[in-house]
Amino acid sequence: MSLPPGFLDELRTRSSLSQVVGRKVMWDARKSNQGKGDMWAPCPFHQEKSASFHVDDRKGFYYCFGCHAKGDAISFVRETENVSFMEAVEILAREAGMPMPERDPRAQEKADVRTELADVMELAVKWFRLQLRTGAAAEARSYLERRGLSQDVCDRWEIGFAPDSWQGLWDALKGKDIVDELILGAGLAKPSSKGGKPYDTFRGRIMYPIRDARGRCIAFGGRAMDPEDKAKYLNSPETELFDKGRSLYNVRDARVAAGKGQPLLVAEGYMDVIALSEAGFQASVAPLGTAITENQLAMLWRISDEPIITLDGDTAGQRAALRLIDLSLPLLEAGRSLRFAMMPEGQDPDDLLKSAGAGAVQKLLDAAVPMVQLLWQREVEGKVFDSPERRRRWINRCAKRSCLSRTRVSAAITGRRSRTCAGSCFVPSRAEAVPRRSRSGHGASLGAARCRKGRLRGPNPPSSLRRRMRIPRTICAKR
Ligand SMILES: [Zn+2]
Repeated sequence: MSLPPGFLDELRTRSSLSQVVGRKVMWDARKSNQGKGDMWAPCPFHQEKSASFHVDDRKGFYYCFGCHAKGDAISFVRETENVSFMEAVEILAREAGMPMPERDPRAQEKADVRTELADVMELAVKWFRLQLRTGAAAEARSYLERRGLSQDVCDRWEIGFAPDSWQGLWDALKGKDIVDELILGAGLAKPSSKGGKPYDTFRGRIMYPIRDARGRCIAFGGRAMDPEDKAKYLNSPETELFDKGRSLYNVRDARVAAGKGQPLLVAEGYMDVIALSEAGFQASVAPLGTAITENQLAMLWRISDEPIITLDGDTAGQRAALRLIDLSLPLLEAGRSLRFAMMPEGQDPDDLLKSAGAGAVQKLLDAAVPMVQLLWQREVEGKVFDSPERRRRWINRCAKRSCLSRTRVSAAITGRRSRTCAGSCFVPSRAEAVPRRSRSGHGASLGAARCRKGRLRGPNPPSSLRRRMRIPRTICAKR
């Protein structure tokens, strides 16, 4: 979207840089001169005790004499909130009370509807939270307590409760004069097929509000209290606000935390995200539904170059990892990749945090396996190369996927040293653009690596690939 001429100038004059910066720093009262718009503070971009960060409020520029960070209100919001240029403009425009220009009247109309829907969602958040304090929610409260979620944590994550009634929320919203279309449009109720009153979408569930990058509540996730319920987890239906495949739970806070240097973690569900965040891994998100989509991958990569996917340590988790690799392969670009942290068998991050603490999770994250390594493992593991045709077919496929020459791949599976380059296991292809020889990669072992459980795994990825992707020598995560 292009902004009309003059919009940014107007925005810069309307927003006060010292006010924007003032939310993130403590001004040095002695050094600053508010009347002159001459403000000093310890720099938010580097660690320091003295105040070498200067804001010239009249000119609208900041400069740090320590780390030389400089810019205006927009760049300050971009850096500290870890958002795009347009998002920073939106944030500032909202604060300055300037309406964002819309592309056309239809878009304006749509934006208005979305704002109205978001307001209704906000009412629902409040109502669900209130219900969690009622007698009907006693069981829900004790469940949350068992899961280790204190009142504080529930408040922070705005967890609520949908009572097991057909029109609880509906009646509450109608009582506030909300029109039917908005309640239905927000996905909070469904029309009755028998011609009666519409009924609540969520009944007898613990409610987790899902907010977008701008902090608007766009959907709910509800966990059934009744163990017999067919849908243990239920998300809001797709609405004007909510596109499941383009949303991530906790994306707003995770983005801010990732901007401060925390690793971006992708967990499976709300409970994992909450547990991880509460344990200090605040840059945690979860997809809403089942598998991660292409759009979600793009979102993840906008936040971090190498998100870490945490997976349950069972075969389903492994399969999910491989599916994700297939999805991400065509989308890979230089500097964009994924790492995988496998949880111990039968445990999710929440379980692990409870049983072994944050240190154990940190250890797993440190040992997270790069994507190529898992890919290689899959290509080699359990393959039988009993006929030349079968072997050729596999080599072709594998070479295509791993960007290695066929010679290299074939050498890798046979474990034979190539004669054309004495002493080296592989003949680097021209396309690989890696140094022909290097001492460290020389004659790397191609024998089957033994993982820590003593099981035999396939051979290691070729050393040049390992070097390029910075992966350790053995296939199994080092402990
Ligand atoms: Zn600085």
